[in-house]
Amino acid sequence: MHEAGAAQAIVGMLVEEAGARGAGRVDAVHVVAGETGSYMEESLAFYLGFFAKGTRAEGVRLDLRVVKPKLTCSSCGLVFERRRFSFSCPECGGDAVITDLGDEFYIESIELSGSA
Ligand SMILES: [Zn+2]
Repeated sequence: MHEAGAAQAIVGMLVEEAGARGAGRVDAVHVVAGETGSYMEESLAFYLGFFAKGTRAEGVRLDLRVVKPKLTCSSCGLVFERRRFSFSCPECGGDAVITDLGDEFYIESIELSGSA
């Protein structure tokens, strides 16, 4: 259950950011997560609510955007989204290797309102 740790880290950043910008509350957080990281949205939302209780981020809305893993062609260098059952390059047909794109997890943006 790495969602708990991730949620705790997110809440920490939200509270810090709200404090730094003098916002009264955090309305929403937009998170980007790689498909291979397999973060479960429901679980993440649950833990966010749990850790945000009593903070400026209480009641924060989670918007999770899942990104697909990317491959890089070893022949021409093209980076493309993985398709099911296929590892060959759509441009040249060369063999592709998996990249660490698709394993990311970061906060894309935060919506704040009110004043502290
Ligand atoms: Zn190629």
